[in-house]
Amino acid sequence: MMIKTHILGYPRMGLQRELKLALERHWRGEISEQQLEQAGAELRQRHWGQQRDAGLDFVTVGDFAYYDHVANHIQLFGCEPARFEFSGQESALARYFTLARGVVSEQITGTCCNHAHATAAGKPALEMTKWFDTNYHYLVPEFDHATAFTLASGRLLGEVAEARALGHAVKPVLIGPLTFLWLGKAKVEGFDRLTLLEQLLPAYVDLLLQLKAAGVEWVQVDEPILGLDLPGSWVLAFERAYHTLNTAQVSLLLATYFSQLQDNLSLACKLPVAGLHIDAVRAPEELQSVADWLPGHKVLSVGIVDGRNIWRADLDKALQRLAPLVERRGATLWLAPSCSLLHTPLRLCDDASIDPELRGWLAGASEKLDELRVLQRALNEGEDEVAGALLAARNAITARAASPRVRNPAVARRVAQLPQDADRRTSAFAVRQARQKQRFALPSFPTTTIGSFPQTAEIRAARAAYKRKELPQQGYEAAMRKEIAHAVQQQEALGIDVLVHGEAERNDMVEYFGEQLDGFAFTANGWVQSYGSRCVKPPVLFGDVSRRAPMTVAWTAHAQSLTDRPMKGMLTGPITILQWSFVRDDQARSLTAEQIALAIRDEVTDLEAAGIGIIQIDEPAIREGLPLRRARWDDYLKWAARAFRISASGVRDDTQVHTHMCYSEFNDILPELAAMDADVITIETSRSDMELLRGFGAFKYPNEIGPGVYDIHSPRVPTVEEMVRLMKKASEVIPPHHLWVNPDCGLKTRGWPETQSALRNMVEAARQLRAAS
Ligand code: GLN
Ligand code: ZN
Repeated sequence: MMIKTHILGYPRMGLQRELKLALERHWRGEISEQQLEQAGAELRQRHWGQQRDAGLDFVTVGDFAYYDHVANHIQLFGCEPARFEFSGQESALARYFTLARGVVSEQITGTCCNHAHATAAGKPALEMTKWFDTNYHYLVPEFDHATAFTLASGRLLGEVAEARALGHAVKPVLIGPLTFLWLGKAKVEGFDRLTLLEQLLPAYVDLLLQLKAAGVEWVQVDEPILGLDLPGSWVLAFERAYHTLNTAQVSLLLATYFSQLQDNLSLACKLPVAGLHIDAVRAPEELQSVADWLPGHKVLSVGIVDGRNIWRADLDKALQRLAPLVERRGATLWLAPSCSLLHTPLRLCDDASIDPELRGWLAGASEKLDELRVLQRALNEGEDEVAGALLAARNAITARAASPRVRNPAVARRVAQLPQDADRRTSAFAVRQARQKQRFALPSFPTTTIGSFPQTAEIRAARAAYKRKELPQQGYEAAMRKEIAHAVQQQEALGIDVLVHGEAERNDMVEYFGEQLDGFAFTANGWVQSYGSRCVKPPVLFGDVSRRAPMTVAWTAHAQSLTDRPMKGMLTGPITILQWSFVRDDQARSLTAEQIALAIRDEVTDLEAAGIGIIQIDEPAIREGLPLRRARWDDYLKWAARAFRISASGVRDDTQVHTHMCYSEFNDILPELAAMDADVITIETSRSDMELLRGFGAFKYPNEIGPGVYDIHSPRVPTVEEMVRLMKKASEVIPPHHLWVNPDCGLKTRGWPETQSALRNMVEAARQLRAAS
């Protein structure tokens, strides 16, 4: 009996983000395509080598991408959108980067709210959107009636040949045809992209035949949409699709991940494929039924090691769970991480920023390979053969569980003793609104911004110098105070009603708070690809969260001292901090959220005590935390809204709490947004031409709203008229005395000149609205 191991995919960037550096050098014209390809080949070779050295039975090929694996499939199946009007002279790689980055050289890329936007003045790049519930963004294929598919790129076959030449056993990975179509977007209204399936399948069969001819035995076909609530027509299409693919007579491993199969479980087990991979971390309760349903001759690949988090696996527990399967399935059992390791850092065991104790609790992608190897050997050769490794893992788990760094009795006590009504403001909104109107005496259609002002090169240089200890703390703080003074002065000159300090001192809206909270750690090299060449280093939330000292009070109070106008305090909310970190797996996320909420609550009340009357708690990530299965939404939204309210409810009636969100779909969670009970919510709406607000209106959203009047992702300066028009449209569905005037999001990715012009027009628009009302 030989149990096999494999992975669904591996990180691409390299430990030092070599791919990022090579890409950006290529885009700047400093290295040629050939040199870039060389860098890519070296990374693939290194990463395959790591897989082989860990004893995996295959190396995975096809997970590499110069920008995004979905974009690879667009070229693979020859469906580059016609709107790019390629001449045929461009190289495939040049076209690829055009799809990803837009046409003209003037490239405007910004990120806000952690979602990315790339536009170009000529032809906009493909849209980017989040890959399921991860923070990875893929390029959205565009489909219409004219879309046709052919096998158009030799890249995958080339990489297969490359790996085989290096002596590897190769398992290529493809996105399955249904997931590929699902991820795309119909470019014409009413077009059903599922109708493209019949045309797409022959291209897949072609490819499978060529892979087979190249000596490939197994192909992994990813269909993560089997973990979603799919429309019936999509579910029905699976059987037909896989019958067609099966004609190529290659062994297909159908891979599902991130979610529960539920209704699709028996379908997944019945499809004419040679094997099925399931995510036993996200859907542990389904392991048994899949083992029962999946015919014994088919391979069952169990995603047993968490591919979405960075904690060292509990190998004893894994072996216990696997034992009954080993008996029943023997050699048709494969072991794998739950999903592609794209979502974890490459290596953490020697990360310079993490202390050795904490480091010992972590596993990045390459350490997860080692965990698989230990499990495999324990099952194939007996636990005695790997007794040392099992013991080390056991010790790490025990040490983590027992460590005083993880548990803080004061935090536990506080959570336990939290009064029932800690998540309730003293009075209902109407009462608060009246008191706040009286206190702030703002004009109708008050103007404000979302928090950040341009993060200029000087600001970034000062922070970098400070971090390198070249700039002493005093010098750094003086530089930041100067930036704050500048921002205040600008806003006063523009005549904005509620000011912000501008967030100059913040590197990142989560990291800034994480660094000041107990329970968080930061890696030196824990990079995870977000999109293209952009990587993020999510904080590691390892222990009970508490606030050591005020985090923003001094900056905000200083900013307030410079002006008579209200200065809005600016905080990141508990769900966003949770969502953009690697979160501990030894307690419920809801409890961790509650701990963060209490820390933020302390900051809120301290700001109030320091005389700050308006406080914004940003929650841009609240929507992306939604579970993939609808049936789980309620539970999540309940505790998420409660965590927000805990953070916001420690203040007086006349203190005004704002929140901000910028994911553009809210209509399906309006009751929960209302339940957050922020006095004011500012949202991204300008790109939907205020259409988004209709839902708020129909729902009779009770509190005040600032619908963004211009898109901050472009340097374009909006005109007064267009903003007046948008606000008038807003007034048709929202009571005008509930409306604020503000941009869509923070301005950190903008330059000052366009920021000034845009805000000048925005303030003028508000004046005209007041005059007309
Ligand atoms: N206050 C933050 C800013 O203005 C909000 C950013 C966000 O929505 N992601 O930058
Ligand atoms: Zn935003």
